[in-house]
Amino acid sequence: MPRIASLECSRCHNHVSPETPQTLCPLCAGSLYVRYDMDELKRTARREDIAARAAASPTSLGMWRYANVLPSGAPDNPVAPVTLGEGWTPMLHSKRYPGLYIKEEGANPTGTFKARGLGLAVTMAKHYGLQHLAVPSAGNAAGALAAYAAAAGIAAHIFMPQDVPFANYVEGIAYGADVNLIDGLISDCARIVGERIKQQRDSNTPANEVWFDISTLKEPYRVEGKKTMGYELVEQLGWTYPDAVFYPTGGGVGLIGMWKAFEEMEALGWVTGRRPKMYALQASGCAPIATAFDHHKPTSEFFPNADTFAAGLRVPKPYGDYIILDILEKSGGKAIASDDATILASILDYARNEGIFLSPEGAAATAAYDQLIQSGELSPTDKVVLFNTGAGLKYTDMTAEAMHLRRPGTLPTSLPVGGIITPQ
Ligand SMILES: [Zn+2]
Repeated sequence: MPRIASLECSRCHNHVSPETPQTLCPLCAGSLYVRYDMDELKRTARREDIAARAAASPTSLGMWRYANVLPSGAPDNPVAPVTLGEGWTPMLHSKRYPGLYIKEEGANPTGTFKARGLGLAVTMAKHYGLQHLAVPSAGNAAGALAAYAAAAGIAAHIFMPQDVPFANYVEGIAYGADVNLIDGLISDCARIVGERIKQQRDSNTPANEVWFDISTLKEPYRVEGKKTMGYELVEQLGWTYPDAVFYPTGGGVGLIGMWKAFEEMEALGWVTGRRPKMYALQASGCAPIATAFDHHKPTSEFFPNADTFAAGLRVPKPYGDYIILDILEKSGGKAIASDDATILASILDYARNEGIFLSPEGAAATAAYDQLIQSGELSPTDKVVLFNTGAGLKYTDMTAEAMHLRRPGTLPTSLPVGGIITPQ
């Protein structure tokens, strides 16, 4: 595992020290990237070693098979992974389209890709000795933080919209997190977390009790965990690039992380050729990136009245919008928004014809894929890796509502027999 050389601002390229916990660039509030000594990495990190080490060591499970390109700490203070087996998810070959591969991130702990970023961010938080982590979330990041914080013995304070998928509420409570449901969107949750932390600082709360904001792109390690999706898709395709990557985009950290992975892998000589076109897929009810892309803007505008059952896409203004839009343009990809009816139709289509129960976010990607196949812009033989970012089973309440599906009959409100469980 490599030592971090520095943390570099994605906007002004200022370097800050990784010796203490960092949030944003102190000069311009840009997101920070983890940088390694690439000359050292070229000597020590070999792609040939990855599979053998993963097979030989239980601590190299999942995304930690890429430990030789993840932070290590100092020799006398090594990073100890907080892992629940995240990553190394299946790459499913479509039954209908010869070029389509679905990366099934629903196989992660807590059922979504969020496990990768928060697995690494909580690992580093523990390494730094942080004791209170706070996150505003559209739902799934909160569930993942709750799980990894429980595994690390750290307190989690989660803030999410009151109408998140019910699974996100249940898992937060089950993992013992401090769960706060807010009458608003993730942007309102982010404001509240910021205000609470400012209050704690202003009232001289002891340093170890002040919350650390582990928001998307407001600390450097969630991107670092998400980048393993880029390493994985290339390794699973025999160390080659696909023609395109389809990625449901709320906060967009996965897209940013994968692009960083491609840069690193090219520098290490692990992959060559043309980078994939990156597609950011959104819902019409909350499409700040698609709107900005259509108008050739370098940043997004706050998307008003965000409303879609693809809960993870209800991010009205992603913090890393300037990075996402830059990647779309550089890669030759684009952003596409689909409406909820089309997303629901795609959920049912892929469930019935492929056996895959997509999350609404994943179905925003398949809906866009199908649209481009029909228009002829994509061929069914073009090699595409499409991310199903979460398990459809985490959204049964929202998908059922979109389907107007109710349980048949009325269930009894009390149990008919006594015994261990007494009637209510
Ligand atoms: Zn900066």
